[in-house]
Amino acid sequence: MQPARPGPGLPGPDGPGREVPEHEVLIVGAGFGGMGAAIAFKRLGIDDIAILEREDDLGGTWHVNHYPGLAVDIASVTYSYSFEPNPNWSRLFAPGPELKRYAHHVADKYDLKRHMEFGARVDSAAWDDDARIWRVRTADGAERTARYLVTATGFLSQPHVPDFPGLKNFRGKILHTADWEDDFDLTGKKVAVIGTGATAVQLIPEAAKAAESLTVFQRTPIWVVPKVDFPIPPPVQRMFRRVPLTQKAARVVNTSMLELLMVAGVLHHKQLKPGNKLAELLAKAHLRVQVRDRELRRKLTPDYDFGCKRPTFSNTYFASFAKPHVTLQTSGIARLEPDAILAADGTRIEIDTLVLATGFNLWDVNFPAFEITGREGRELGKFWRENRFQAYEGVTVPRFPNFVSLNSPYSYSGLSYFTTIEGQMKHITRLFGELRRRGRDTFEVTEAANDAFLDEMTDRLQSSVFYNGNCATSRSYYFNQHGEATLLRPSSTLRTLREMDSFPLSDYEFR
Ligand code: NAP
Repeated sequence: MQPARPGPGLPGPDGPGREVPEHEVLIVGAGFGGMGAAIAFKRLGIDDIAILEREDDLGGTWHVNHYPGLAVDIASVTYSYSFEPNPNWSRLFAPGPELKRYAHHVADKYDLKRHMEFGARVDSAAWDDDARIWRVRTADGAERTARYLVTATGFLSQPHVPDFPGLKNFRGKILHTADWEDDFDLTGKKVAVIGTGATAVQLIPEAAKAAESLTVFQRTPIWVVPKVDFPIPPPVQRMFRRVPLTQKAARVVNTSMLELLMVAGVLHHKQLKPGNKLAELLAKAHLRVQVRDRELRRKLTPDYDFGCKRPTFSNTYFASFAKPHVTLQTSGIARLEPDAILAADGTRIEIDTLVLATGFNLWDVNFPAFEITGREGRELGKFWRENRFQAYEGVTVPRFPNFVSLNSPYSYSGLSYFTTIEGQMKHITRLFGELRRRGRDTFEVTEAANDAFLDEMTDRLQSSVFYNGNCATSRSYYFNQHGEATLLRPSSTLRTLREMDSFPLSDYEFR
């Protein structure tokens, strides 16, 4: 690849003989995060961008996940970029394939596709402090260089496959929900689903419709509240198209409701405990209506507080368990046999299909998704694991110059991934705008600013459900391996957006 001069957006290298990187910006990941970052850079006039994506198409989670029943569980007026509303959503909660189409639409409209390279898996990245560039190694052994590195590799991108005894001996079909085979038909199959997270809540009703028998292995029950979902009629779509303000208004109303349920209730549990209890009552009433069997209801009822784990929405999940061919198994998994799964209570269940709805490994193999080495040999994963998980404003880390990590501790706004990325786009815009204003090309967050941010996050989390509620039995991925809830940014959406737009510029050093 020919080395390219830096684009018009930022000053070029300032020293004679300084190596010119191939790209000004290298983004890892072509999901909504990576695309949002690319849009922010393009708005700044930076066009020399490479987006490397390990998959064979764009869309991130919405490309990888295509299991039956996949849909958003945040209403689509909110689960989309605010600057790119889509009047064509077919339902209040759009089915998964529509998100993939939306991703393509955004990539076309903002001219992102020409920056993307697919099948390009990044293995490592290291900061070269002499040349002040990132050296990025891909799985094919090639080195790519860039002035700025942005990782947009997702939170839920490394599938978790537990090492169940005997798994290798199982002779039937094994499918992880993040690696679904569309032409595999569940009709007439004897199926076991392991897991009862948000994915399983969507998949189980579909599997129950098709399978001859379905056994669901539940380790931890999940709170499920009704999903108020309906098709968006064509006249409303037309109205959204002709008068965009109406869709904006719908977004504001929905986002405010969600903010109350998912953000205020979780983050201000200390003050708003009755709200969480109300949500629990709603979920219990929902369960009572759909499942008459008292013992089954008991097994499906969580013993941890609403909000410890991401709550789910479904009108059909609980009802699936009332069907005669669906069994809930809660005793655990003893082992797999070639044609069966043996439960811990000794029950032997003959199956020909094993569905692993076992989620993703966030804290062991993600954060970051590949090896990243900053200044003075600081390795990001090691730093996070041996110290506390931390990142200034959920995007930058001391000793990692010119690096923006979109999937960092405290980066995720509990409301929606789009709120998260739009806040981060604001941060990128402010930071790179300042870099340009000062005529510099290297930035690094100060240790002091990072420490102060970590202290503030720790402090703000004290009134959250994670530290005030009863979360001990929830097994929630919001908690890391040290038992700290370091995924969500404990701030309201408005506050996050404001802070991302107004952080003190003195929190960065510019070279
Ligand atoms: P998850 O929430 O991590 O759930 C994984 C499930 O597998 C849990 O029930 C877990 O049980 C179980 N499991 C894992 N290892 C196990 C083991 N060794 N033995 C028995 N059970 C085991 O993953 P997910 O359901 O894929 O959802 C992840 C996230 O994706 C959601 O929280 C949500 O943010 C997102 N999501 C979004 C949508 C949407 O918006 N449309 C849809 C699906 C998912 P324990 O709870 O006991 O660990």
